[in-house]
Amino acid sequence: MVRVKMAILKTEAIVLRMQEYGESSKILTLYTRDYGRLKVLAKGARRLKSRFGGVLDLINYITIVFYQKVTRDLPLLSQADLVRPFLHLREDLHRLALASALVELIDRTESGQMPNPRLFKLLVGCLIGIDESGNAEVYFDYFTLHFLGFAGFRPRLRRCLHCGQKPKGYVVNFQFRRGGYFCENCSSNNQEGGLQVSVATIHSLLALRDANFTTVGQFSFSQTIQREIEALFLYFLRYHVEGFRNSTSLEFLQRLDKNNLTQWLQSTQTCKEEISV
Ligand SMILES: [Zn+2]
Repeated sequence: MVRVKMAILKTEAIVLRMQEYGESSKILTLYTRDYGRLKVLAKGARRLKSRFGGVLDLINYITIVFYQKVTRDLPLLSQADLVRPFLHLREDLHRLALASALVELIDRTESGQMPNPRLFKLLVGCLIGIDESGNAEVYFDYFTLHFLGFAGFRPRLRRCLHCGQKPKGYVVNFQFRRGGYFCENCSSNNQEGGLQVSVATIHSLLALRDANFTTVGQFSFSQTIQREIEALFLYFLRYHVEGFRNSTSLEFLQRLDKNNLTQWLQSTQTCKEEISV
């Protein structure tokens, strides 16, 4: 008899994506705490009386047991239990758009591929915030800002790229290629385009970067600052993060456009030469 080597593994996961497989099964893409992004085969998951029930719905927070056979490409899902279903997301299009954008960041970038328990904890914490908080956008901002750090593209927010001074005055000129900004003085000589944002937005991002899960829920930004933060992220992700040039979730968020982002970008000095929105 040939003995097939098999490992039984258990971990926590967020459901990122699902595709149908065969007549009754699903292939799930999960972001797991201990193994990074992982595809598993859930046999019979599309049957009405499937043992998985609604546990495998998108963006659910679950625990899984799966088998990894040496001879098989795709691990087999054996058991899945719901930790948290994020029910408010399903009833609120704006919350869902914010959560979908986070999930897409993990699903489409290299940072989601490798195991990173800190990034997993950040994702779960921010999904809980988006689901429950009266100010869901701040959790989207908090996640994206820290995600950029994990991805190696931490924006340079403390000082002007040219003179090294802390920003004075009212506006700075953000340079996406350089990952930072020119202050008001230095940007008068700058011919490189860029996106003009307020110094208040830079200070808000700095405060958010120093925040933690206990304090982040207390943040609340004006519509103007939130719009500028979203614009900065939109450009930054598209410019720097491979796999995010065409993001359906960010486009979806733009279409919902709670903060009139698109209109504002069209009316302000934009960085069309650097990247188009
Ligand atoms: Zn300067």
